[in-house]
Amino acid sequence: MQLNWLNQTPIRKGLLGLKDNGTFKTNMFETFDVVQEKQTKQTFYGNIHSQAFPPKELLFNHSFMGDENTILVIPIVQEDHYFGMFGFVGTDDIMTQLMPLHTTYQLATYFAAGYLRANITERMNNYSQQLEMISDIIYDGIWEYTNTNKEIVCRGGIVQHFGERTNYANIDFERIVNIIHPKDREFFIASLALDRRITKQINLEVRVITNNNQLMWIQIVGQFIYVDGKLTKAVGSVKDITNRKKADAKINELAFYDTLTGLANRISFEEQLAKEIEIAKDNDQSIALILCDLDRFKVINDSYGHKVGDHILKTVAARVKPLLAENQFFARFGSDEFVVIMPHINDNQEAYQLASDIVQVINQPIYDEHRHYQISTSVGISIYPENSKATDILVSADIAMHSAKAEGRNRIHIFNDQIKHHNASQIKLEEQLRHAVEYDELSLHFQPIYYVDSEEIYGVEALLRWNSKEFGKVSPRDFIPLAEETGLIVSIGEWVIYEAIRVMKKWQRKYDVPIKMFINLSSRQVNHPNFSRELKRIFDITDIDPRRISFEITESMMIDNFEQGKLILAELIDMGVKLSLDDFGTGYSSLSSLRHLPFQILKIDKSFIDDLSAVDANVAILKAIIEMAHSLNLSVVAEGIERQEQYDLVASLGVDFIQGYYTNPPLPEDKIEKFFKRKHPQKPSSP
Ligand code: C2E
Ligand code: CA
Ligand code: CA
Repeated sequence: MQLNWLNQTPIRKGLLGLKDNGTFKTNMFETFDVVQEKQTKQTFYGNIHSQAFPPKELLFNHSFMGDENTILVIPIVQEDHYFGMFGFVGTDDIMTQLMPLHTTYQLATYFAAGYLRANITERMNNYSQQLEMISDIIYDGIWEYTNTNKEIVCRGGIVQHFGERTNYANIDFERIVNIIHPKDREFFIASLALDRRITKQINLEVRVITNNNQLMWIQIVGQFIYVDGKLTKAVGSVKDITNRKKADAKINELAFYDTLTGLANRISFEEQLAKEIEIAKDNDQSIALILCDLDRFKVINDSYGHKVGDHILKTVAARVKPLLAENQFFARFGSDEFVVIMPHINDNQEAYQLASDIVQVINQPIYDEHRHYQISTSVGISIYPENSKATDILVSADIAMHSAKAEGRNRIHIFNDQIKHHNASQIKLEEQLRHAVEYDELSLHFQPIYYVDSEEIYGVEALLRWNSKEFGKVSPRDFIPLAEETGLIVSIGEWVIYEAIRVMKKWQRKYDVPIKMFINLSSRQVNHPNFSRELKRIFDITDIDPRRISFEITESMMIDNFEQGKLILAELIDMGVKLSLDDFGTGYSSLSSLRHLPFQILKIDKSFIDDLSAVDANVAILKAIIEMAHSLNLSVVAEGIERQEQYDLVASLGVDFIQGYYTNPPLPEDKIEKFFKRKHPQKPSSP
């Protein structure tokens, strides 16, 4: 910026354009006034391309360039670097005088050289900073061992963790060994045994105790240098890898533990099982596997949300854990499955006992801030080698568990031949059931539902019967769950509706009885996406008054998915059919929750009726139920009335209808017709 020498030249003003940050477009301009020996202005004229230099704002600005003036533009270049341009303003003859041309070129060259140097220095500074940073990242320290004086010199920030005040320490081997965690010392010393040649790079990960008693994982990398076969020195680095170790542990945990419950997951369970089986094989011991599957967990999850589901799973895990001995292995096996490995059991009873304890703790209500949940679990037990081969132990437990579910849940089954057999016969049964409609093996029986205090039939309940060529008569309690499980219930249920309607129409025609038909629906059937469309179609084709049909729906179907259930019920009501709530008293629902559901009839379950004479409290409850039902405009059917005294009791409590063996068992079509003949003599057939 010493510009006075320009007074020796015809140059009066100057302009400097610099490439800013390597882009061509951004240019900074300075003008200086040679006469006044100072920079007159420092103005930023915006981004322009180098080809637009000098900016026209200045070229046409009379105070910058008079008419007589010329501007000499010289690039600032050094080696391959182009930094910008100078503009020198003077009178016309600057172009013809050698001196100003020469000096201005020289000026530009010097300027460029200086600029380049400044640039390089800046970059160098950057590099060295980067190097420092990199070395901080890569090594927390470096070390050097010299064999002649057995000295170990350590540099770097890590040194301060071991009580040094500077980043430099001269530490002897003894002291290092003392810093190392006792559990890693032996390994450390063995890895560095200097009596053998260590040709490969060493790479050790050991724990150390820092001077403020923190555990730190360090990685020691190094190379031993031998001259003529003799160790002269070794050099290497030390790095704090505590965080990486923590991350490793976390990843490990994720891979082998279930994050929700903190239990081992399926992978570690399988590993553990394989180990335990090996041990059991070698020592002639028995192992039990206890597989627990929560009942209706999906229902809870769907109805109350995953948060509730998670809470329940956590609670279950927490309750079961304290029941287990130290050598027993507990894992979360699937979404709602838990499994326990019981090594060397002496007696199957031990496994059964533990399983019952598990069932019991799970049965205790689980609370959250909103409500309480009643959970149960079905348990399958298999025992190696008694009833399962090593490879089958899991499958056997699973079969036993499913058998417990099939028998009504909340129970324990130990795998045995019977279950195995049962399982095999289930498969056969399913095969046969698949063809039942096609082979014409299904039929309906009808059980009359009577008005109380009258011999008059109010309606009949259609009850499915299967007479299998292979198995003979199979109870609906056996094949309906199977049909639900396999989805066959959709087509079978459709058949039931058609068949029931056919019979209704026949009776109407022959006996003029507008009898009400109660038809059971199952959850799977109702939840089928085509259900209501199919039903509408049936009503269209058969031309039946839907008001004469009452669909029986169980409480459990409603709990399965309350909101969805409500929608479906509304659709059914829209079609004009009636709805009965079946098996009331066996499930969880309360009458108050029915308030918002469009039922007309409540069917009180047989088990409730069975308990009646025994406990007076039940009578009071039943009375309350009936009164409340009436206040909700529901009629009440008492199911499973077998004896006179039951009949008398429910009648006295105000039940509207009764159904049961006391009046009639379910009867085939023609037997029912006999009632009609008796009560309604057949009309002469109309033309
Ligand atoms: P549910 O709907 O509770 O039917 C009443 C059951 O109680 C019938 O058993 C009936 O025979 C029986 N029962 C009636 N009165 C008495 C009595 O006084 N004493 C005794 N011990 N039992 C009595 P069933 O016919 O074996 O049917 C069993 C279950 O199978 C039914 O229970 C129902 O849940 C299901 N089911 C039957 N037919 C169908 C159907 O077409 N579709 C569907 N989804 N389920 C059906
Ligand atoms: Ca029923
Ligand atoms: Ca029932």
